[in-house]
Amino acid sequence: MSDYQPRPADIQFILQEVLGAPALLQSLEAYAEVDGALMEQVLEESAKFVGAVVAPLQRVGDEVGARHTQENGTGKVTMAPGFRSAYQNFWQSGWPALACATEDGGQGLPAVLEATLYEMLSAANHGWTMAPGLLHGAYECIKHHASAELKAQYLQKVATGEWLATMCLTEAHAGSDLGLVRTKAVEQADGSYAISGTKIFISGGEHDLSDNIVHLVLARLPEAPPGPKGLSLFLVPKWYPDGTRSAVHCDRIEEKMGLHGSPTCVMRFEAARGWLVGETGKGLNAMFVMMNAARLHVALQGIGLLDAAWQKADAYAQERRQMRAPGRGKTSAEADPIAEHPAMRRILDTQRAWVDCGRVLAYTTAVELDVIKHHLQQERRAQAQRWCALVTPVIKAAFTQQAFYGGSECLQVLGGHGYVREWGMEQIVRDARVAMIYEGTNEIQAIDLLVRKVLADGGASLFSLLQELAATLPAGSPAARAVQQRFGQLRSVTEALVRAAKEQHTLAYWVADDFLRLVAMALMGWAGARIEGALQGDPVGHAQRWATPQQALQRWVLPEFAMRLGIIEAQLR
Ligand SMILES: Cc1cc2nc3c(=O)[nH]c(=O)nc-3n(C[C@H](O)[C@H](O)[C@H](O)COP(=O)(O)OP(=O)(O)OC[C@H]3O[C@@H](n4cnc5c(N)ncnc54)[C@H](O)[C@@H]3O)c2cc1C
Repeated sequence: MSDYQPRPADIQFILQEVLGAPALLQSLEAYAEVDGALMEQVLEESAKFVGAVVAPLQRVGDEVGARHTQENGTGKVTMAPGFRSAYQNFWQSGWPALACATEDGGQGLPAVLEATLYEMLSAANHGWTMAPGLLHGAYECIKHHASAELKAQYLQKVATGEWLATMCLTEAHAGSDLGLVRTKAVEQADGSYAISGTKIFISGGEHDLSDNIVHLVLARLPEAPPGPKGLSLFLVPKWYPDGTRSAVHCDRIEEKMGLHGSPTCVMRFEAARGWLVGETGKGLNAMFVMMNAARLHVALQGIGLLDAAWQKADAYAQERRQMRAPGRGKTSAEADPIAEHPAMRRILDTQRAWVDCGRVLAYTTAVELDVIKHHLQQERRAQAQRWCALVTPVIKAAFTQQAFYGGSECLQVLGGHGYVREWGMEQIVRDARVAMIYEGTNEIQAIDLLVRKVLADGGASLFSLLQELAATLPAGSPAARAVQQRFGQLRSVTEALVRAAKEQHTLAYWVADDFLRLVAMALMGWAGARIEGALQGDPVGHAQRWATPQQALQRWVLPEFAMRLGIIEAQLR
């Protein structure tokens, strides 16, 4: 079966017709020049690059994968054939620097164009995309927290993607609980630090894609207190500016279920020389810039992977004929395409609805990130901050879950052919599974949402967000009325949870996942109503393409809202 091919027109419809992103962004001084035509052009070009250069490497990434060898006493990782030249082409064409500031060697374009690029890249080749996936977060982290001296050496190289970066957090005993990190940092006479310890599961810890690798490492000073407040962040390159190699060794890469194109490395730091980024004891703060950018990227991975699975399933279902579809009049054909059997139609339209609505939510998040950075009014920036804080954990969890379960549904559409390797569907399902685990597991996202973001302020931020969203709904449509009703129910149950959680201290932790899904359903309904609003009068002849998934959203997706509400209410009795 053919490789994934991006469909920029679908993305453009969401950006332009549903969100009105060009006008919104142009109201920010930084993007006064970025009009709809420019956005469309970037989108088209990025789609071409993804389709021509990255998508064809999907299979070789899985079948050959990354290989680890020992050379001159240190671990060496060779990436799958074609990966290095595709990456060199990628950074030299300026793609990683799309949304970096022009003074850092970037193109100064809006974050949402980077978001659409990474969604397409992940759909085309999740394994390859892991390598540049952390770049923008690393760039922001260095830009906002590193010393002028470090910036002079590393910022531009990371902004342009000439050097790739890693995020070294996890240790064998410290996964979700980073407060347990033990890697040590000892200050040296010259102001540098000697970093010692072993990090596990480090994506792209070692490879041959770029000529240098910049590691951002969480470690603890000898006198630091235990727990998260004792953590500091350090920058340790693979190669120092004088051409010497650092004492950072890749001891092994993991054998894993999927994502074979991305080396998941065990990294040993042997008193490696590094430099502090930000203040001592504020390592997690500095890292959060990177982790938040990464969470949006992981949500986009989910959306992209589901889109890729849907594309294969849809193409197959149009061709494959089995039995007569119920309700079809007599035709000369002996069997109908399986796309016409309600069971298959339901799967296809439901996954399409998840992708369409996911794009509305993820692209809005990217636009709001730019509003936080560039809007002149404090009140509007606070509103954007609220959206990002509340919606990022929801989309990370909801769309990574859907990529795996929805991807598995798409595999079902291919029957036995979905289960065999030839069609590439089982790779998508295997690759997608990890996104529910990394960048904070989906359970941690749910706790972050309910405990840290909602209960912590008695629901005030969530209620403000719901009010702002209600104001953007198209007037008078039945879908919009249903959204208002769901928002009301969400508000009532949140108020009840706020009251109950004061008495029952563990309650929130039992229902956090249901609460996240409840919010996800409320947001999906809102996204659907926005799409429906854009279709009113069918401005560009799109109704057929968009309306069918919207019906599936109402019939097969949104009923989960009532189910989750019921589960939470049952715990409150
Ligand atoms: C392919 C891959 C790539 C990765 N890339 C990187 C990387 O580049 N850099 C990096 O630093 N790390 C990386 N990781 C590590 C990843 O971020 C961790 O696996 C993840 O944070 C979970 O940690 P853990 O595996 O130790 O699981 P644990 O934290 O041990 O969790 C096990 C289970 O317990 C649950 N759990 C834990 N604590 C709680 C709690 N308080 N409440 C409810 N449930 C809880 C979790 O949700 C999970 O289901 C990667 C992992 C993989 C598999």
